Amino acid sequence: MSRLIAGLEARIAELDAQHLRRRLRVAESPCAPHVQVDGRAMLAFCSNDYLGLAAHPRIVAALQEGAALHGAGSGASHLISGHARAHAALEERLAAFMAPQIDDGRALYFSTGYMANLAILGALGGAEVELFSEELNHASLIDGARLSRAQVRVYGHGDHAQLAGLLQASTAAGKLVVTDGVFSMDGDLAPLKELLTLCERYDAWLVVDDAHGFGVLGAQGRGVLELLGLRSPNLIYMGTLGKAAGVSGAFVAAHASVIEWLVQRARAYIYTTASPPAVAHALLTSLDIIAGEEGAARRAHLQQLIAQWRDGLRLTRWQPIASDTAIQPLVIGDNGEALRVAAALYEQGLWVPAIRPPTVPAGTARLRVTLSAAHTADDVSRLLTAVHQLEKAGS
Ligand SMILES: *Cc1c(COP(=O)(O)O)cnc(C)c1O
Repeated sequence: MSRLIAGLEARIAELDAQHLRRRLRVAESPCAPHVQVDGRAMLAFCSNDYLGLAAHPRIVAALQEGAALHGAGSGASHLISGHARAHAALEERLAAFMAPQIDDGRALYFSTGYMANLAILGALGGAEVELFSEELNHASLIDGARLSRAQVRVYGHGDHAQLAGLLQASTAAGKLVVTDGVFSMDGDLAPLKELLTLCERYDAWLVVDDAHGFGVLGAQGRGVLELLGLRSPNLIYMGTLGKAAGVSGAFVAAHASVIEWLVQRARAYIYTTASPPAVAHALLTSLDIIAGEEGAARRAHLQQLIAQWRDGLRLTRWQPIASDTAIQPLVIGDNGEALRVAAALYEQGLWVPAIRPPTVPAGTARLRVTLSAAHTADDVSRLLTAVHQLEKAGS
């Protein structure tokens, strides 16, 4: 065997030995709580489809209509010839939707949230910039920070006092504070009010990645900024459209000059083919649902399920993380035990992912339960019962 291949295989075997090897499961039905996976009927608690819109008939029909209107592909990057009427319409709609939170705002649509984060940090970074990054930030922000060429300082989870000290000590020409709005593996919120006050005091941008808040939080679904009543020219908001919005892509909403700078300078925007216009067309329907009565009803149902889950937990060894969002992690600790519990749930037809390092810190392997407005109270009860039995059984 080639030495190159043998070397990789040895490293994969090491992952196996540490219970860190991941495997792909093949979903054979549309995203929903009740799914067909590898030939089995499962009740899933692992998608980020928080409002249950991923297979919504009106959005599916809009995607088909979008393909009929705009064809399959965009054919080029946005700045060449790929920027379709549907992209422009979506950006106008997003800017109007986010207007209560963003002064003189504009919105820019991206193919993925990962790319949007690389774009923001790449375009606003530079050797003269200091970038303050929260320790539990999503991998895409960490990668964006690396690409930004800025001096990166990591501050502790939720520790705005530490951040205050770092900002005060900074002599950098540009300052960028970067945080998840809702932390993806813990489900808790960043202390954005305090962070924004600091950013205004020290002339820093506040970049908020609200992948898990957009559509879900706030009376109208405008996310964590609406929930906390925040508005400022220092804010750069990133919301994703493949989670609660049920389709694909992401957007940045910020002051029009920030957006213009991204269009001019963000490599992850400029050097990539624009996503299919049909996707943007479908997202217009998704936004109508999120902003309308149906969205409000779905958010209210989701909040009921979250309360049912938290009220129903009576655990002794496993530790639920304090979270009021759809992300409800149970910390188990040991990688092997987390895997065994997830496997035992899977045997019972319950699909809950075990999240292990390096996605989460060592010693905090967990079940990451995500709830969706598409779940019923019975679905949540079934998982509660199974989790309690497994904890008691010492599995
Ligand atoms: C999912 C996620 C992203 C990436 O968004 P995609 O559209 O899936 O690329 C970025 N940040 C956070 C916090 C996420 O959870």
